[in-house]
Amino acid sequence: MKLSILGSGSGGNCTYIETEKCRLLVDAGFGIRSLKRRCNEAGLEPERIDAILITHGHTDHVSGVEGLSRHFGAPVYASEGTRDEAFSLQRIDNMEPFRSGDSFVIGDIQVTTFPIPHDSAEAVGFRLSNGGVTGLLATDLGRITQTVETHARGCDWLVLESNHDEELLKLGPYPWILKRRVLGDHGHLSNRSLADFLTEGFDGNASHLFLAHLSRQNNAPELALDSATQAIQQRSARLPGRDLQIHLTHQSKPSIVLSL
Ligand SMILES: [Zn+2]
Ligand SMILES: [Zn+2]
Repeated sequence: MKLSILGSGSGGNCTYIETEKCRLLVDAGFGIRSLKRRCNEAGLEPERIDAILITHGHTDHVSGVEGLSRHFGAPVYASEGTRDEAFSLQRIDNMEPFRSGDSFVIGDIQVTTFPIPHDSAEAVGFRLSNGGVTGLLATDLGRITQTVETHARGCDWLVLESNHDEELLKLGPYPWILKRRVLGDHGHLSNRSLADFLTEGFDGNASHLFLAHLSRQNNAPELALDSATQAIQQRSARLPGRDLQIHLTHQSKPSIVLSL
């Protein structure tokens, strides 16, 4: 399995996943030109996309979905709640709606969906398996629930949100109503909440972690990286686990390409 987070953050999200038989996008927050530029930069060739999976209906996850679906002739998999919420999804003929919690197969990839707590209708995370490799994507979530923790068990790679530093957010320029939304149980995951999961809830199986959906306003890459690194050091001082490599994701350029 090969993957790269082509872009991540409130300005647009898209992850590319490739197996021997299948090429998927998770979220479609960019148009075709931006997607091609990012794939080029990552050394990937997106001449074919077999399916587009959508986590939820916020603009930064669906703004490019119509164009991308049409360009690639690719079906769009989204929860019924997401489809009903996002106007751009209602214009797509090639929809494959599912219910949160459903599992299905696309090509040679086993997909399991699970609910995440976010202020969007029927928002989901994805657990993807192919040829003995399993990964999980969960961004845009107010907290790591027991369900998310359960689905993260046994994964080889994780894409998890590390949205904001709580102090930067509290002191920053956002209006209080927006601060309250981001900090809430259905908002976005802070560096500290992710660190709590890494020290307490993480099973130590994954060898790669991508820090996703970093806020440009209320976070800094080095803060997110330090926080996660310290949490993993604390965990490995008392619990067994594989060596974990932590990778940053970016708004304007792709992450590393991971091959497992
Ligand atoms: Zn988002
Ligand atoms: Zn969102």
